[in-house]
Amino acid sequence: MRTCGFVAASLCLAMLGFLAAATQPASLDGAAPQPDDGRSAAKAETAAAASAFGASSDQPVSEPKPVKKIYIMTDMEGVAGVRDAEQWLGPEGRYYDVGRRLTTREVNAAIEGFFAGGATEIVVCDGHGRGAIDIELLDPRVQLERGWPNGWPGPSLAEGGFDAVAWVGQHAKAGTSYAHLAHTQSWNYVDLAINGVSIGEFGQLALCAGELGVRSIFASGDQALVEEAQALVPGIETVAVKRGTTPGRGDDLTAEQYARRNIAAIHLHPEKACAMIRAGAERAILRAQKEHFGLIVLKPPFERVAKFRPAQAGQPLLISRERHQSSIIALMNMPFNPQPESPATP
Ligand SMILES: [Zn+2]
Repeated sequence: MRTCGFVAASLCLAMLGFLAAATQPASLDGAAPQPDDGRSAAKAETAAAASAFGASSDQPVSEPKPVKKIYIMTDMEGVAGVRDAEQWLGPEGRYYDVGRRLTTREVNAAIEGFFAGGATEIVVCDGHGRGAIDIELLDPRVQLERGWPNGWPGPSLAEGGFDAVAWVGQHAKAGTSYAHLAHTQSWNYVDLAINGVSIGEFGQLALCAGELGVRSIFASGDQALVEEAQALVPGIETVAVKRGTTPGRGDDLTAEQYARRNIAAIHLHPEKACAMIRAGAERAILRAQKEHFGLIVLKPPFERVAKFRPAQAGQPLLISRERHQSSIIALMNMPFNPQPESPATP
């Protein structure tokens, strides 16, 4: 769950005003390996979406611009060892502080890798709704950002100057089969799409970063998130630290039911996860200095379609549609106006 404006995802919606009125979400889960079934369908869907988005605008005509300044978006649900919403994602949970520690360790591992690969400045954004970074444990070389007073993206990203964005602890989008704690912003989403491309918290930030000319170079989280990221941003460096084991989308569930749905997963040990993240982050920045990847750009105009779960099982979905002629960032910050799905018209 993220808390930012729109980007961050999970709790981002809170800022937009819809979440407050929606069912109070918890956290989720879900991701993973296993051959097929919902997974290949999801992959095909994401790939189709990616092509709809349009190709990268990063033209491979010359050496890429050096990657020095990196923005790391963080979340808690995609961290190895973080297991469920009830006990882990908020301060009322018995293991919340353990989860914050695990999250911060993974973030520090990415920071190590980026600095080793040539980064000179890093800002870490705590994107988890309830907060997931323990600043006392955070690498002292970075700055920590928290809060979205002007909507998405956060103040530092909006100010400019970043060469790349990376994700640590990210989870897959709502409705992903074999995902761990999957959701988009909150547990009440069934789907969110821009110009027909279904995206989650990862895709929201990747697209907004693309509008700012910032490349998406690295993402870690569960296996389903990794597949989602690779489908949307070809060439992005990724690391999977766990894999969800629950099949199916769960679209027919209420937010409360969905929050308890994908909590089954197989996790790497934190030490192993951190070692892989450190190596992956270093690989990402070294590759980004030589290879053109990571900049995704959608063609305007833009339409956002959000589908929300009904308050009670059996009621129709709520759908909200908004458009913007030229800016995904502006579109992401527009308020939602969810209306009951109208019966299919003949
Ligand atoms: Zn999230």
